[in-house]
Amino acid sequence: MFFGKKWLFSMMIIAGLSVVMAGCGESKAALSPDKINVVASFYPLYDFTKKIGGDHVNVINLVPTGVEPHDWSPKGRDMQNISRAQMFLYLGAGFEGWVDDTLSSLQKDTKVTVVEASKGLSLIEAAEEEVQEAKGKADSHNHTATEHGHVDPHVWLSPLNAKQMALTIKDQLVQIDAAHKADYEANYTKYAAQLDQLHNQYKQALTPLTKKQIVVTHQSFAYLTKEYGLTQKPIMGLSPDAEPTSKGLQEINEFIRTNNVKYIFFEELVSDRLAKTLAKDAKVETMVLNPIEGLTDEQTKAGADYISLMEVNLKNLIKALQ
Ligand code: ZN
Repeated sequence: MFFGKKWLFSMMIIAGLSVVMAGCGESKAALSPDKINVVASFYPLYDFTKKIGGDHVNVINLVPTGVEPHDWSPKGRDMQNISRAQMFLYLGAGFEGWVDDTLSSLQKDTKVTVVEASKGLSLIEAAEEEVQEAKGKADSHNHTATEHGHVDPHVWLSPLNAKQMALTIKDQLVQIDAAHKADYEANYTKYAAQLDQLHNQYKQALTPLTKKQIVVTHQSFAYLTKEYGLTQKPIMGLSPDAEPTSKGLQEINEFIRTNNVKYIFFEELVSDRLAKTLAKDAKVETMVLNPIEGLTDEQTKAGADYISLMEVNLKNLIKALQ
């Protein structure tokens, strides 16, 4: 055949292009054809699922590294991943303001198992001023009314809650992929023991300290402080972009002096401007207390995870409460 060579050449070019394009299209957010795909709504759920799923599970974290999840919402590709995955895991408790719309717009033929990780946990009611603030921000996607009323969604910052969510994730993986039940059980047992150990470290270190008050920017530590007998004084609200009033700032300044507070805690995914200004006014220092809503690029590269970041948090808490 006289056109054979030309035809073969064309096919080689097309084949070559396909390989190049597949390479380009391959991102961290791709579904895997031969693993159980779990789409997690934000970092802690991603981390817990990776620890329990091990090699059998491909986990996609919807919120990109370095992005604060409170104001994030899914795009077209995320929606596609959610409806084609075996499991979609979200926190609930009003944390993902976008989730109801997302669930109702899922394709009718989707086989995805939807799991609300905070289900069964005892939730802390938001303070009255928070409710007012949320009502005032009519278009806010965060911390809006849920069927339980207004609740604080930051449940994962108590290691015992993390353990409970890990159990929920393990049970769901076993349901979806019974063939690997033994591995999921073993991974869960190991991870649960690490979370118990983390809880004991917190309890042993924090219980003897006489100072109990911490000043934080974003009101995200209620579950942690409740568990270990501390109280948090937040500068901002449940959502990190809620700005304080000047009266509020004055009150915090007074609080710092009255309680002999040495540090104002801030977090890395939002601006530290307010914490730095307030610290300068009150003549105190700033330090990081990480709400672990997402990782920075550096933390990802360094292999940080929920447990290692919680260990850093404990060190900083001890330093602040001396
Ligand atoms: Zn938050």
